Amino acid sequence: MKYRRFGRTEMMLSQFSLGCMQFTGKSPERNAIETIEHAVKLGVNHLETARGYGNSEERLGKALKKILKKVPREDLYITTKIGPSSDLDEFKKNFDLSMSTLDLDYIDNLDFHGPGNYNTIAPAMSERGCLGFVRKMMAEGVVHHFGFSTHGYPTGVMDLVNTNEFESINLHYYYFYQGLRKVVERAAELDMGVFIISPNNQGGKLQNPTESLSKACAPLLPMTFNHMWLLNQPQVHTLSFGPANPEQIENNLIAQNYDGTGEGRVVFDKALEQVEESYRASLGADFCTVCNKCLPCPENINIPGLLNWRQMNKAFSMTEYAQGRYEKVGSGGAWILGVKGDQCTKCGDCLPRCPEQLNIPDLLWSTHKELETGAISGPTWDHEGDLLKKDLRSD
Ligand code: SF4
Ligand code: SF4
Repeated sequence: MKYRRFGRTEMMLSQFSLGCMQFTGKSPERNAIETIEHAVKLGVNHLETARGYGNSEERLGKALKKILKKVPREDLYITTKIGPSSDLDEFKKNFDLSMSTLDLDYIDNLDFHGPGNYNTIAPAMSERGCLGFVRKMMAEGVVHHFGFSTHGYPTGVMDLVNTNEFESINLHYYYFYQGLRKVVERAAELDMGVFIISPNNQGGKLQNPTESLSKACAPLLPMTFNHMWLLNQPQVHTLSFGPANPEQIENNLIAQNYDGTGEGRVVFDKALEQVEESYRASLGADFCTVCNKCLPCPENINIPGLLNWRQMNKAFSMTEYAQGRYEKVGSGGAWILGVKGDQCTKCGDCLPRCPEQLNIPDLLWSTHKELETGAISGPTWDHEGDLLKKDLRSD
């Protein structure tokens, strides 16, 4: 296993981190503990959970009790995440609960869980709020490092990075979603640790790849292809993986010693060529580069996100993934942004901003037709007559 310096935290983290989110609910506790123990045996030294992950902290705490009999505490790095709140007492209560459930004297890395922009957490970012409390815990040695995890739009995430209050970021960035590239580059400039959330599952359900994707990535497994794509970037430090049992660990760690050079790099470059060729060939002139320049949309449509899922589906038949994500759009969940493509009013604001000159409203409507699993009504704008809704409104 290779280890990377996690930005200015100076922690040397294994380039794969065990995400403990799935060790919750009714899955057998013994299985969770054995999986955590096995990952540590294989050299994984960063274990990640959250207050909000059901009984995940409890199970990690139990596993740590066993592991720490054999492994020195300073050889392991534990991250937990707590949602920032305008109510400091609530945050403190959650923090105390996390520490007692994990049964730890100190936490290596505490993340604010899930902020998408600065404004929504402004009350927490003051000396009298959660931030001041975290600083106090850091001064007392109870918290060693402080970061945040996010599912937000690039501009909101960039604002959070630019506060320079956080030592690390935990974010969605994959071969199949490169929209946060500039955020990753900025984080590197600020010497922040960069931790990639769920590159297998959220990166395209790559643990169960489609036939066409497997063919394009061959001889690499699609998830290994994605891992190597990420590990080629020195500004990326560690990738989470979430095996359901000890047997699933090995496949997740194929790239554990990959450093972007040697024979591995030659194989990767060839696979990348194949994937890019298939991707571009199936999308033709309608290729969205996920540059985000079309945002913001007044209707709060996550244009690049939706078009990206359309592309994955069209190019590699990643229907289960794309429809699964699309289904959640507009459901009010904090992790899936915006509203569905049929909410486009064809106002035209985004069109001059698209360097690829894409017909965004038409593509959003195709996306909706291809990915919506419920009943479909017509678009909110007059498709046939090509009239802008705002013109109709002014009649
Ligand atoms: S045309 Fe549609 S997608 Fe573009 S900005 Fe207007 S509402 Fe949003
Ligand atoms: S500006 Fe165009 S290419 Fe860029 S993300 Fe938006 S739709 Fe895609």
